[in-house]
Amino acid sequence: MSASARIPPIAQPFVSDRAKRTLDLVEEFVEKECVPAEGLFQAQLGEGEKRWKTTPAVIEELKVKAQRLGLWNMFLPKNHFKQGAGFSNLEYGLMAEYLGKSKLASEATNNAAPDTGNMEVLAKYGNEAQKQQWLVPLLEGKIRSAFLMTEPDVASSDATNIQLNIRREGDEYILNGSKWWSSGAGDPRCQIYLVMGKSDPSNRDTYKQQSVILVPANTPGVTVHRMLSVYGYDDAPHGHGHITFTNVHVPVSAMVLGEGRGFEIIQGRLGPGRIHHAMRTIGAAEKAIEWLIARVNDERKQTFGRSLSSHGVILEWIAKSRIEIDAARLIVLNAAIKIDQGDAKSALKEIAQAKVLVPQTALTIIDRAVQAYGAAGVCQDTPLANLWAMIRTLRIADGPDEVHLQQLGRRENKARKDPVTAKLNWQRDQTDRLLTASGFKAKSHL
Ligand SMILES: Cc1cc2nc3c(=O)[nH]c(=O)nc-3n(C[C@H](O)[C@H](O)[C@H](O)COP(=O)(O)OP(=O)(O)OC[C@H]3O[C@@H](n4cnc5c(N)ncnc54)[C@H](O)[C@@H]3O)c2cc1C
Repeated sequence: MSASARIPPIAQPFVSDRAKRTLDLVEEFVEKECVPAEGLFQAQLGEGEKRWKTTPAVIEELKVKAQRLGLWNMFLPKNHFKQGAGFSNLEYGLMAEYLGKSKLASEATNNAAPDTGNMEVLAKYGNEAQKQQWLVPLLEGKIRSAFLMTEPDVASSDATNIQLNIRREGDEYILNGSKWWSSGAGDPRCQIYLVMGKSDPSNRDTYKQQSVILVPANTPGVTVHRMLSVYGYDDAPHGHGHITFTNVHVPVSAMVLGEGRGFEIIQGRLGPGRIHHAMRTIGAAEKAIEWLIARVNDERKQTFGRSLSSHGVILEWIAKSRIEIDAARLIVLNAAIKIDQGDAKSALKEIAQAKVLVPQTALTIIDRAVQAYGAAGVCQDTPLANLWAMIRTLRIADGPDEVHLQQLGRRENKARKDPVTAKLNWQRDQTDRLLTASGFKAKSHL
């Protein structure tokens, strides 16, 4: 069955014929071109320090093929941007699921984070000169970028803690401070950093102290100290950098949107991006189910005289995985539809639901697949160990689960406490009235 035929019935009415055709092309491109090329990518990347200086040729070849197929920049939603491929968040969300099945597919189609979020920032908030200098080459896939918010010395899940100092002097800003987990900073093609810092630390409004500013990666005073590993994976050549800024000078024209607008920018950046991550994660979970099914039906590897698939518990894993991932997909698609019908702000609840639920669901499924492989599941012979490490970080990156849950819980409680209490009181009084009217004793209540 084709990808377009598998679109859940709830989402079908919102998907154009053009998007369905593209979705089928995406699936074919990912399964037939990207997944098989992953081994070649690793081989071309090589070993040691070279891995940070190399762009494997196969990725550039895939980019050319993707562009020929019209699979390029699908992430920029048509309601808000003219530069993209003209799809809605829902339509791209469906495509992102398939991109999540290969480590190469997002970059091959120019839909890779953090460039996607950075391009959205530049398209939405950048001025014409900034767009020409940075957005155009990013849209063309000629350069890459990083978003630098998190800092080693403060709890960065509360972005008001950010300390990197942005001080104006004449026609320049001067930056001092440290950043880490700057994803993408390892790539030799990464030319531009979008840096969040404090330009007005004493502003009484703690949400107006921050700004986002553009810093070319080769600016004097910028030092990339090291690349951080994720459960032992260094994600070369992309990488996650630890970077310091020592008296880094940039012109005032590098400020995005204006001083004090940093929070506005990061909030605008993260909504659709969370849906993209969530849908790619659904794809990763589907990939884990495929590997699970392949292992449990491997006739060469039987236990106690039977293939694993004839053990009831294993069939239960397959069934539960199917239920859980199908349910999670509906949550994400619902959030994408809500964004399309309004904007990311009007879909905060739905985006947070997807952001929290999907990685947890996917991790459970990947873990079942790892278990089914036994020791092979934790080594490099399947993609499962790497998938697990990658998805585990999504419970922290873009805001930890607890922060989203706190906001969700607070909003749900605030909106519902009065009407729910009033309704339950009314129902209790009504029950008493019915009881006494029929000659019974009213119930005792709390
Ligand atoms: C693979 C990866 C890639 C990343 N890429 C980037 C990037 O490109 N750019 C960038 O700027 N950052 C990036 N990050 C950083 C990420 O966004 C931060 O790690 C995240 O925001 C959490 O900040 P922190 O690490 O400072 O944790 P802290 O703020 O120190 O929080 C620690 C823990 O405290 C708990 N906690 C926090 N708030 C609450 C609360 N309200 N209630 C209960 N518990 C709470 C949570 O469990 C949380 O995990 C990346 C991280 C990873 C792992």
